[in-house]
Amino acid sequence: MWHHCIVCSADLGVSEELEAFTIGNRLAFDAAKGRLWVVCPRCERWNLVPVEQRWEAVEALEGELERLAAAWREAEELAAISDNLILPKGWKAFKAYAKAAGATAPDRADPPAP
Ligand SMILES: [Zn+2]
Repeated sequence: MWHHCIVCSADLGVSEELEAFTIGNRLAFDAAKGRLWVVCPRCERWNLVPVEQRWEAVEALEGELERLAAAWREAEELAAISDNLILPKGWKAFKAYAKAAGATAPDRADPPAP
């Protein structure tokens, strides 16, 4: 299996980030074309991974991209919700009450009696 840069012959290193592909510490991935490169730590040229070594790594990276896209969508939904949050009048008093009650976060204390 190939482990050296095709330009400068430097060792590309080993990574344990992906079980399916352990060559190189920096990868470049084109999901649209299913291409994968290992970036050389010495000359920073991109080494195209031979197709026969690429498929399992591409599948793993596509799964990772799907997971990141789902996390991004969730973060965008939370950001959209937080844009519409309005703090009610008296929130400063509630925060002071919660702090005095020993809560580390205001949502962990009971609200003050009316
Ligand atoms: Zn190199």
